[in-house]
Amino acid sequence: MLFMYFLLCFYLIFSNLTEKGDFLALDLGGSNFRILRVKVTQDKKQPVQMESLVYETPEDIIHGSGTQLFDHVAECLGDFMEKQKIKDKKLPVGFTFSFPCAQTKLDEAVLVTWTKKFKVSGVEGMDVVKLLNKAIKKRGDYEADIMAVVNDTTGTMMTCGFDDQRCEVGIIIGTGTNACYMEELRHIDLVEGDEGRMCINTEWGAFGDDGSLEDLRTEFDREIDRGSLNPGKQLFEKMASGMFMGELVRLILVKMAKEGLLFEGRITPELLTKGKIETKHVSAIEKYARRLHKTVRRLVPDSDVRFLLSESGSAKGAAMVTAVAYRLADQTRQIAQTLAEFRLSKAQLLEVKKRMRTEIENGLGKKTHDSATVKMLPTYVRSTPDGTENGDFLALDLGGTNFRVLLVKIRSGKRRTVEMHNKIYAIPIEVMQGTGEELFDHIVHCISDFLDYMGMKSARLPLGFTFSFPCHQKSLDAGILVNWTKGFKCTDCEGEDVVELLREGIKRKEFDLDVVAVVNDTVGTMMTCAYEEPTCEVGLIAGTGSNACYMEEMRNIETVEGNEGRMCVNMEWGAFGDNGCLDDIRTQYDCAVDENSLNEGKQRYEKMCSGMYLGEIVRNILIDLTKRGFLFRGKISETLKTRGIFETKFLSQIESDRLALLQVRAILQQLGLDSTCDDSIIVKEVCSTVSLRAAQICGAGMAGVVDKIRENRGLDHLDVTVGVDGTLYKLHPHFSRIFHQTVKELAPKCNVNFLLSEDGSGKGAALITAVGCRQRAQEAQQAAQQA
Ligand code: ADP
Ligand code: MG
Repeated sequence: MLFMYFLLCFYLIFSNLTEKGDFLALDLGGSNFRILRVKVTQDKKQPVQMESLVYETPEDIIHGSGTQLFDHVAECLGDFMEKQKIKDKKLPVGFTFSFPCAQTKLDEAVLVTWTKKFKVSGVEGMDVVKLLNKAIKKRGDYEADIMAVVNDTTGTMMTCGFDDQRCEVGIIIGTGTNACYMEELRHIDLVEGDEGRMCINTEWGAFGDDGSLEDLRTEFDREIDRGSLNPGKQLFEKMASGMFMGELVRLILVKMAKEGLLFEGRITPELLTKGKIETKHVSAIEKYARRLHKTVRRLVPDSDVRFLLSESGSAKGAAMVTAVAYRLADQTRQIAQTLAEFRLSKAQLLEVKKRMRTEIENGLGKKTHDSATVKMLPTYVRSTPDGTENGDFLALDLGGTNFRVLLVKIRSGKRRTVEMHNKIYAIPIEVMQGTGEELFDHIVHCISDFLDYMGMKSARLPLGFTFSFPCHQKSLDAGILVNWTKGFKCTDCEGEDVVELLREGIKRKEFDLDVVAVVNDTVGTMMTCAYEEPTCEVGLIAGTGSNACYMEEMRNIETVEGNEGRMCVNMEWGAFGDNGCLDDIRTQYDCAVDENSLNEGKQRYEKMCSGMYLGEIVRNILIDLTKRGFLFRGKISETLKTRGIFETKFLSQIESDRLALLQVRAILQQLGLDSTCDDSIIVKEVCSTVSLRAAQICGAGMAGVVDKIRENRGLDHLDVTVGVDGTLYKLHPHFSRIFHQTVKELAPKCNVNFLLSEDGSGKGAALITAVGCRQRAQEAQQAAQQA
């Protein structure tokens, strides 16, 4: 059986030689009980300074009770601290405890069984750290922070590792024998995770206890075992360690003398006395170490094995492990503190929901609308589809990642179908940031190409224009661009009706199309889902940007005449917070992302929760943590300084539960970030913290919306469906789940169902166009009737 030490990745960090500080070490289990004070400094000449004292451990304590033993240890420690004049300090303590222990963390060790000369009652099966802490607390005259329990093999390896980073094995050949080494985590089934390494205490002394060494054991080995305190146990140790070597030699000599092969057959009483030949006598005659080295090298000729003698390894090593643990604990605390700002309480999220509600009211109100940040733009979409929509429509999708032209064939009746054909067109950057005329000429050129491609150049089809920028609409087919967002910045468009601009472009190209509707992508998404599911009255986009729309009561939309029925309102909620109302939850990293953006001070909510920005928030945190020395060995690489390298798709990959740390490292590597496995743990933590908050505040906003709909209708309980589109929502491994959960928690009176939209921008635009055509026909009919 192997007992393991949770030194996950410690070794890697340890070899950075960044440890420093003042530590205490206890060494129990060897021939002496020792206490050391170890100072690790960055002094090149003498990085480790030690002072130590040996304490007697009386026989009655070694065979007494656990309470007595740990009281004794605590008393000695107190005495040592007194002498060192450090009794008023709470120093980190490393505890070398050289008995087989089961560990599930560094500062916990459950004794499996006593070995060697120890036999203390009431300790087996107990955590020795707890026992020692209890004894120290009982005294009350000093404090100690026991950070790590270490086996002597581990201590030895760590001590040598301080001088030589290649030291990855520790062996003890003393009273007993044992070894440890750094094993790959993927081979350790008992421990979760498969990247990095952990030191394994083999407890190899027990090798052979299952009979596997029987063919090698001699009559002398058997005799030694029979006469020992633990017959049948530690058979390998009994063949190889100091406690038994002299005795083995004596037994052989006795036999040889008896057979007249030695000492002319004379046997002295001394020779017959058990324990008379000690191992030191054997080693005075024989050179051990060289034999060991030679044998190992002969057996593994392909490896270059070097042996390093450890100086007081067991205790010094404990201090080393403690130093690492101490630094890590401190670092972990500071990182947690940094990330704590992103962890919003339920009260804070409820506050976000409440503020969203306030901004909604401001956007809807006649007097408050002009100064409102959440604009609540009327869309003139007055109803969701009813299934009677029919016909062929063209749709344009501008403002997402791609520009597309689509042909959508909607068939009503029993077997409703929607058939779509589309083509993606590039919009060159010089067109995105050129003149408005150039942009619309390009768009019309693409439409014309598409019609050619579909072989329907002469058709005069109704067209829906999905234009995902904030627009003031005065009717379904008029939208005045408030301002460009995302990557667009064309001249002569802001303040203009984009439908009119499109119609002019069509005229310039001398063909004919009937532009029926201008559509926001949120509305298209809602309409697409509503076509399948009539309870869908909300649309959400969680993609490059973040935005939502929903069906609001006309009586509440003070910016549009009329009080009857409902109208879909494009909230443009990305601008939530632009008046400073979210400043208390924005972090320095959010501010940094904002300052570096194309639209400083604008879209503050969107910048905390949408795909275009999450990676940038992460990058800014990583830069800060690196500056503080917690990441990437404190070195800020050129890559890390590069804006936009951390795309949100990397967050999705890094946060995937199926991904091992090794793969996280591979992703970082791909980004040009050379990371240790600890780095990758931290990076993953940063990513999940940022996306958690994004999903939560997005959920808080949505909770505000659905509760408003519920209140609008005077209901105690609302069933409603939200149609959702956007790659962040669709592909991030946790975003949607956390988002749903938050909505549920913050709007408990609403039962919200979420429906993924399939191509909301294309299909939705066509559906709105169909609804628009129907409205037009009705109006024409009414006019005819009146006439
Ligand atoms: P848009 O919002 O531009 O119409 P999408 O909904 O496809 O288009 O969103 C694209 C955005 O989604 C990208 O800008 C990026 O921020 C984000 N994204 C891309 N891939 C992933 C992914 N695998 N996981 C999460 N977010 C992603
Ligand atoms: Mg889109």
